[in-house]
Amino acid sequence: MCVFCEIIDGKIPSQKVYEDENILAFKDINPVAPVHIIVVPKHHIESMNGITESNSALVAAIFEKIPQIAKSQGIDSYRVISNCGADAGQSVMHLHFHIIGGVELGEKII
Ligand code: 5GP
Ligand code: ZN
Repeated sequence: MCVFCEIIDGKIPSQKVYEDENILAFKDINPVAPVHIIVVPKHHIESMNGITESNSALVAAIFEKIPQIAKSQGIDSYRVISNCGADAGQSVMHLHFHIIGGVELGEKII
């Protein structure tokens, strides 16, 4: 079972900031900015490469809630990142979206 599935199942504690039947958002354990939230589908999808017609509604559900999750953390300006694959820096092989903000990030992505 992957780390994020263990968080979803409550086997690993996390600081949850939003949860519903389909998705979970929690604070990143190693934040790179004052606000750093991870949003995951509760159903295990390995990465962006695992998105299909049959599970893309979960991705839509995440994006529908991202503004609300950001607002709950006191920000309305933020960056959303999803690393896909090891070469892109994906270290947990469960699809997730980083919400990063609370500081001026600058124009460059990398
Ligand atoms: P990736 O590098 O795969 O895009 O992002 C994985 C993120 O998950 C990293 O920013 C890392 O700090 C975070 N992370 C890894 N393990 C845990 C954990 O057990 N709890 C929490 N809250 N975050 C984690
Ligand atoms: Zn998983």
